[in-house]
Amino acid sequence: GLRDTEPSTIFDKIVAGEIPATVVKEDDKILAFKDINPVAPAHVLVIPKLRRGLTRLSEASPEHYEILGRLMVAAGEIAKDESLGFGNGARIVVNDGPEAGQEVFHLHVHVLGGRAFSWPPG
Ligand code: 5GP
Repeated sequence: GLRDTEPSTIFDKIVAGEIPATVVKEDDKILAFKDINPVAPAHVLVIPKLRRGLTRLSEASPEHYEILGRLMVAAGEIAKDESLGFGNGARIVVNDGPEAGQEVFHLHVHVLGGRAFSWPPG
């Protein structure tokens, strides 16, 4: 699988504090911040601080079990945070690859809320 030979992305600059972001949750391994171009009234991205080969979800392997668990637990906590505009259901999304709409190749979980969502997603 891909390792960290790919160029770094804008998310590395956010982690490094080199470009600003509205951080809503952080620990030693993950960072969550508001999406700059929200597609729902509440739209937060949750990322691993260190990409470690996770350009996209389909690059994940058992070495990523811990970080993937942290990302999902953080997403679930954010999804019920009324102070962020959540609290009435959420859509949790990972876009895997360009055809699925992925633009930033540093794994991220979208947490969307504050409105209703249709299914299938289109
Ligand atoms: P993707 O399409 O890769 O799943 O999602 C990337 C997301 O990152 C998009 O929703 C986009 O709006 C967001 N994004 C891209 N650049 C920045 C940035 O510099 N700051 C923030 N906060 N979000 C960004």
